[in-house]
Amino acid sequence: MSILIRNILLQGKRTDIAIEGNRISRIAPMLTGTFDTVLDGSHQAVIPPFYNTHSHAVMTLLRGLADDMELFDWLQNHIWPAEARLQEEDFYWGSRLACMEMIRSGTVFFNDMYFLPQATIRAVEELGMRGCIGLSTLEAAGEEKQAGYERDNQEALAHRGEYSSRIQLARAPHAIYTVGEKKLRWVRDAAAAEGVMIHIHLAETRQEVQDCLAAHNCTPTAYLEKIGLLGPRTVTAHTIHCTDEDIRILADTGTVVSHNPCSNFKLCSGSFRFHRMMESHVHVTLGTDGCASNNNLSMFDEMKAAALNAKLEFSGPTGCSTGQVFLAATKNGAEAFGIDAGVIAEGKLADLLLLDLDSPMMVADHNLISNCVYAADSSVVSTVVCDGRILMRDRVIPGMQETLDNARRCARRLAAR
Ligand SMILES: [Zn+2]
Repeated sequence: MSILIRNILLQGKRTDIAIEGNRISRIAPMLTGTFDTVLDGSHQAVIPPFYNTHSHAVMTLLRGLADDMELFDWLQNHIWPAEARLQEEDFYWGSRLACMEMIRSGTVFFNDMYFLPQATIRAVEELGMRGCIGLSTLEAAGEEKQAGYERDNQEALAHRGEYSSRIQLARAPHAIYTVGEKKLRWVRDAAAAEGVMIHIHLAETRQEVQDCLAAHNCTPTAYLEKIGLLGPRTVTAHTIHCTDEDIRILADTGTVVSHNPCSNFKLCSGSFRFHRMMESHVHVTLGTDGCASNNNLSMFDEMKAAALNAKLEFSGPTGCSTGQVFLAATKNGAEAFGIDAGVIAEGKLADLLLLDLDSPMMVADHNLISNCVYAADSSVVSTVVCDGRILMRDRVIPGMQETLDNARRCARRLAAR
């Protein structure tokens, strides 16, 4: 499989890009040769795609089911009852719906935490995306349920040899308040033995910090460090309520932080310390969280919210730069998962987006990255390439209607009482 992208804008200059197999083979003007597919880039620009480092894909089916409520009311009376009605097919159609939405908004990878990993893996494989799929641990759900989750996790691990190179797995203990210390130590050892990453919610609410201080006499971040759960193979979601010492720990251990600004705003969880994290060289990436608390999977929205939040938190417009925010959404995410992409260069994996420069949001054209962070929405993404395959061409993804019909049917059944 080979692709030639003709006359495309790359970092301010017009060029051709050749893709052979799953890598970018050449970048130069006026390339010649025979290619399976030729794309005309004359009204378009090319940028790296987005790498979403915290999601719960199946929760697309719960989008808009309940909003604007206190956490306990929201969970107890709306989210948990709907989740209790989830059937096997919901995990598959919910995941496919999430993949479609992510591709349409320029995302090629997501780091997911939910249940029945096999269903999400199937959707990711079929749509040609990349994914790191979580093997959940949630002790708070009760012994019987946890045993079921672990059976599903073992099933996903048993089939590892059959997955494409686009699929990774992670041990995903939900949080320190739903998984006990003994189990967290077990997760740490299991992840090391299985050679998979770790994905956990951390320091999302003030309550979590207060309870941790009371129970363990240290902050949630210090607690995880003590257990040996932090490091470059661990992704902590939210990570809002951090002291200066917590931020030093995250930097020193090389822990990957997933910043989820839209969800943080909607649940009023608190303000992420973007400027301090950057200053301290923490590995900050961006993620959307799930659709029950966001309510979309657009990394364009996350970039803008991250930038605005950083300025508010810093009390000044120099609290972040567009470049920092764009890197968090692209290169930093790819690097965290060892994906040799996130920049458009010869020899890199062929993950890229073609953006429509004829969208009103992309004019004037003084600064493409500024337009992406502050001006654009997902509609500017016209074509998506992942691992050398075209996942969406001129905004068309094959099989979209079937997914929409089935996801709508599943979502309606979940809401029925
Ligand atoms: Zn989450």
